[in-house]
Amino acid sequence: MSGLLSLRPSDVFADPAGSAMVVVDSIVRNVTAEGWFYGQFAAALALGLAIDLIRRRELGPRYLSKGVRLDLVYSLMELTHVVTYTIMLPAGLALTHALQTWAPWLEIRVLSSLPQWSQLLILFVVTDLWVYWWHRLQHESRIVWQFHKTHHSQLHLNVMTTFRATVLDRLLAMVSLAIPAAIMDVHIAMPVAIAALLQFHQLVIHSDSGWSWGPLDRIFVSPSFHEVHHSSLEPHLDKNYGGVLSIWDHMFGTYVARGDRELVYGLVGERLPEAWFKQQFVPLVGLWRLFRPAIAAPPVADAVPGETPA
Ligand SMILES: [Zn+2]
Ligand SMILES: [Zn+2]
Repeated sequence: MSGLLSLRPSDVFADPAGSAMVVVDSIVRNVTAEGWFYGQFAAALALGLAIDLIRRRELGPRYLSKGVRLDLVYSLMELTHVVTYTIMLPAGLALTHALQTWAPWLEIRVLSSLPQWSQLLILFVVTDLWVYWWHRLQHESRIVWQFHKTHHSQLHLNVMTTFRATVLDRLLAMVSLAIPAAIMDVHIAMPVAIAALLQFHQLVIHSDSGWSWGPLDRIFVSPSFHEVHHSSLEPHLDKNYGGVLSIWDHMFGTYVARGDRELVYGLVGERLPEAWFKQQFVPLVGLWRLFRPAIAAPPVADAVPGETPA
């Protein structure tokens, strides 16, 4: 018996003390893993607050506004894994099962013969490239944008905005990422390790610190780079899509410099409801508004016999 999932009822009766140790060991390992996650979150929050204090920003709107309170709800959902365990995990397992059943040819196992470090490197670069194109589609397709726009609805960008994404947006992203994951067929621990390492980066780039990495900005996404992505100023719209690497934006022509103007965050010409439950329906409402004219349009008048409709 090595873990909680391998524990069977018969083991509990045969060896209660040993089974209890398996449970305790599993909890300790999970809490230790979670400690890393919570520590990153606390450090990023402290960093954001320190920046605000040093710059003498008004703390009221930044920390007490309805929007920031909503980000806190999103963060608590993330920290307690409520959504992950109840929706994302079962959906992920079902998706993996479906791909293995109906598209086993996707499992090309291109990486399995390589050493682990190169598997990790290739997985990171390919996934980041995939994230770039997926993020670009989220902005350039009016349909996929309905799912992503909630992330851009925060007027006071802050560390917790990292988690502002609807369940439907996350499910769609997971479906998209399942394809390269199946093709590369790497051990499940690898993407988890990459996500854990990159979590702090994702939090920091939402800190509204304005920091740039200097010449390294051409390679890695900095807070300044991602703030421009959240900016609603005209030259910044639909630019700087990179997740961790900024090279893709330079390569594919979607990079824009920050400029001198003070950034304004939020959506252009649209305000979303500032409540977690209501925001979950934003994609569906958006799709309805998008397709309603086509659905509600009156049927085309019958063509006059003998005439060809234009
Ligand atoms: Zn975006
Ligand atoms: Zn963001």
